[in-house]
Amino acid sequence: MDSVKFSINAPERKLYEFIHGHDDFDKVYEHLVYLNQYRKESGRDFKIYITGILTRYTEHTRDDYFKVFDGLADQIVFKDVYNQGGYMPEIDWQLKCTHDKEQTRRCNLPFDALCVTWEGYLSVENADFENMLIVADLNKVSLKEGWYGEKMKEVRRMFLDNCLEGTLCHGCVHHCQSSAAPLMPEYATENPDIFLDWPVRERIKVAGLPYTKLVYVPMAADIIHPGHINILKTAASLGRVVVGLFSDEAIRSYKPEPYMSYEERKAVVESLKYVDEVTCQETKDYSDNLRRYRPDYMVHGTDWRTGPLAEVRQSAIDLMTQWGGEVVEPDYTQGVSSTKFKQKVKQTE
Ligand code: SF4
Repeated sequence: MDSVKFSINAPERKLYEFIHGHDDFDKVYEHLVYLNQYRKESGRDFKIYITGILTRYTEHTRDDYFKVFDGLADQIVFKDVYNQGGYMPEIDWQLKCTHDKEQTRRCNLPFDALCVTWEGYLSVENADFENMLIVADLNKVSLKEGWYGEKMKEVRRMFLDNCLEGTLCHGCVHHCQSSAAPLMPEYATENPDIFLDWPVRERIKVAGLPYTKLVYVPMAADIIHPGHINILKTAASLGRVVVGLFSDEAIRSYKPEPYMSYEERKAVVESLKYVDEVTCQETKDYSDNLRRYRPDYMVHGTDWRTGPLAEVRQSAIDLMTQWGGEVVEPDYTQGVSSTKFKQKVKQTE
């Protein structure tokens, strides 16, 4: 061992607790003091480094790191926080330093980092809490076999070709929340709370820090018309807009077959200036996505007060009140609807 590095989220307790989620500041400080003492007493020659992890709420504390940890580290460097591991996409838009403008993250881990879990599995990622990125079981194969094995090669190829869709790395690289399947399901741990989007936002609110509200907008968006734009404009005036785009199956459950596929509709909606993120709305019942995101607002046109969505309206309103959210219903834009447009198209065909 030639060095020990401490990743420290803030140089004081209150901010540390806010970023880290637990009040472990004293513990970290004690460990740092202990290690310095151990180095002195044992005469062992290793370096002690600190990385300060900066967020938009803590980047003003750089100088404090040098004062608070004076004499306890050979070097202090700083790194912007990022959503390593892909579990917490809200880090990218709520906590990330505003000067960090990277669109796509470049990741070196599959090429130059060995990450072994406590169970003895080789993973691509050292924060792989649910074993989503396991590539080999080192209880069965050697480290060399795992590192040069077919699974690891497959992962590297996915990185080189930028084809990470469906893996945890996709959300991490593209700063988004996307569903992911484990590389080797037999080693993955079940966690229904994976990808929950709201805990960091809750902490920001509790700490009374500047906060961007989250707005959920469900829509089918088969034909984008002024009614959609009106809804999205209202939503964007309230905060960051996540569109819950109905899957093809969800549309079929209450409307005729969509003209465009989910992927085609997604491409259109993603490019609208009022939209920050698109997620899949798998059923016409919004409960799952609302629980996952816990938005501050849900925006829906008044047209759902009657018709096939009326039954899910009340459950959405009840659910939103559980965490203090609000349902906003901009007036339905008279005279425009996808159904009418589709009828017109049929008549002119
Ligand atoms: S891209 Fe994948 S391996 Fe790299 S940091 Fe993100 S989750 Fe980890």
